[in-house]
Amino acid sequence: MSTPVETKKAVSATRSIHTNRTLNLRTVKAIGYDMDYTLIHYRMEEWERRAYEHLRERMADLGWPVSALSFDPTLVTRGLVIDAELGNVVKTDRFGYVRKAFHGTSPMRFDEQKALYARDVVELSSPRWVFLNTFFSISEACMYMQLVDIVDAGEGPRAVGYADLHRKVRENLDEAHMEGEMKQEIVSNPDAFVELDPGVPMVLMDQRAAGKQLLLITNSDWTFTSAMMSYAFDRFLPRGKSWRSLFDLVLCFAQKPAFFMNQMPLFAVDEPTGLLRPVARLGDEGTYAGGYAALVERHLGLFGDQILFVGDHLFADVHVTKSVQRWRTALVIRELEAEHEALESFAERQVEFSRLMRRKTGLEQRLSEIRLKLLRKRHGYGPPSRTKQPELERRIEEYRARILDLDAKISVLAKEASELLNPNWGLLMRAGNDKSNLARQVERYADIYMSRVSNFLSHTPFGYLRAPRGSLPHDPLPGW
Ligand SMILES: [Mg+2]
Repeated sequence: MSTPVETKKAVSATRSIHTNRTLNLRTVKAIGYDMDYTLIHYRMEEWERRAYEHLRERMADLGWPVSALSFDPTLVTRGLVIDAELGNVVKTDRFGYVRKAFHGTSPMRFDEQKALYARDVVELSSPRWVFLNTFFSISEACMYMQLVDIVDAGEGPRAVGYADLHRKVRENLDEAHMEGEMKQEIVSNPDAFVELDPGVPMVLMDQRAAGKQLLLITNSDWTFTSAMMSYAFDRFLPRGKSWRSLFDLVLCFAQKPAFFMNQMPLFAVDEPTGLLRPVARLGDEGTYAGGYAALVERHLGLFGDQILFVGDHLFADVHVTKSVQRWRTALVIRELEAEHEALESFAERQVEFSRLMRRKTGLEQRLSEIRLKLLRKRHGYGPPSRTKQPELERRIEEYRARILDLDAKISVLAKEASELLNPNWGLLMRAGNDKSNLARQVERYADIYMSRVSNFLSHTPFGYLRAPRGSLPHDPLPGW
């Protein structure tokens, strides 16, 4: 049972800000926010389930026998990769090596997986690999895995390859259309979809009061943006204030990631009617559609690391922002809260797991030394040893037996560790003992990351977020 102190620690880790690259919030002059899944959190499973059902209807229209299929949110997680060539879904470590694989909806045996992927490194730039990171990727991958089973059973409408199948699923998901339909549903019944968080408007009020310029840069249109921001913010603001008063600039329909790379046309939005009028430049406290990052920099008179951008999309919100504009970046990953809880629940067994692994490492080292002594004795070279050959052979057997005995205990804990968070794929940010591919990308492109925007509350607009000292394999001591 955890003590109150431990519980407090667990809560603070869950709602904390994690720093990859040191960020002094005092030097940040402007903060840009994405809206969907950043300032406003939707119930993800509900969203994914609707997208899946929509996709199933489309596949049924094309003659696929899908009526008995249902959405399984545990079948995939974000950060996995579809191998469209072979009909598989894989999890890779930070080097791109496959650590776990499913063919269709079945886990692959380790020997099969090794035979298939021993020479492959997953390169996300190749069309063979599809990284699961969008709103719709969970539903897309779930349907793809189930249809691979149907293809393998010869029950599809006609002979179709795994890559063609993926193209079909992708074409029929029709993200833009689906997103439009979902948004209409959300606007008409936001209570069913939105998880309110009073900490988010408070964070923005703190930042504004501290003199930061605030920007809203969303791909959603003005009508949806205005409806959702009013719903999620206005009730938590001082009487008579609206969400709009928190932002210096609002840019809707921003078309990120193109917003950060290209010069896109700019339109002023007439707030009451939503009508657009082409304009050449940004004015003070305006609401716009389109535009681009360099225009925002010119308008604010700020550049690069004076601006922090906060978003939930690894590619559209942080990857390009960091690579092209060199803005500072913050990534919101809601699943981190469940990931922390899973880690906390395993904490005591992890201590035991690490202790057994250290013991095993020691025994293996000793075994290897005795084997080397025996080898030298047999071949008659090296420093003289008084231990007789049969005694060395007996010790080797003894150490082997002790290691086997230890392995039996370790494998139970290793299995448990591999099923934390998701029974099929384990933790989001880890692949076995290593970082996952997703964790590597977060590390590379997001200066800081957190489970939700309200985690800023504990760091204030004046916080100095220091990255931990990175560990290296040759450090003399852990935590050196
Ligand atoms: Mg978003």
